[in-house]
Amino acid sequence: MHVDIVPIGDVSAQVKREASTALRAVYECDVTVQAPQALPDSAYDGGRDQYRAETLIEIASRVGAGEKNIAITPADLYYRRRNFVFGLAYLNGNGSVISTFRLATSTDGGIQSRPAEEVFADRVRKEVIHEIGHTFGLEHCGNSKCVMSFSPTVREVDVKEQLLCGTCSKQLF
Ligand SMILES: [Zn+2]
Ligand SMILES: [Zn+2]
Repeated sequence: MHVDIVPIGDVSAQVKREASTALRAVYECDVTVQAPQALPDSAYDGGRDQYRAETLIEIASRVGAGEKNIAITPADLYYRRRNFVFGLAYLNGNGSVISTFRLATSTDGGIQSRPAEEVFADRVRKEVIHEIGHTFGLEHCGNSKCVMSFSPTVREVDVKEQLLCGTCSKQLF
């Protein structure tokens, strides 16, 4: 299995490294990183000052050379009626996206005893593992510790581990 990371906009070397490491560790896949792509004007909504998540998934699928592809962007994303999303993927699709925009905010009740950069890096890894999990056919999991649990706030992201629970894992391996 080959997963390709497609940076869209100015993505730091650290974020690319965290994402690659996390995907290799959990899915035992090969991971490559594409050259950075420009943020698409066509996906920008000036009224919201946000980008449409679906368009970035299309770019991940088009530019990425993997069986599964994930766009990573610092831009804030929205999807349909949701005010923002940390990420988006279609079940069993080959494209997905995560945004680091809201992952850098301080915790709102989660783990606060650790350096902010460490908490941010953990969130990036969890979100990448989560969205690629959807492309492998995994749905949301009821176990709040499982990386596939639905986590619309950073607090819930911080509760998750960077691992699939036994039930989710069994569906893949
Ligand atoms: Zn999800
Ligand atoms: Zn699970």
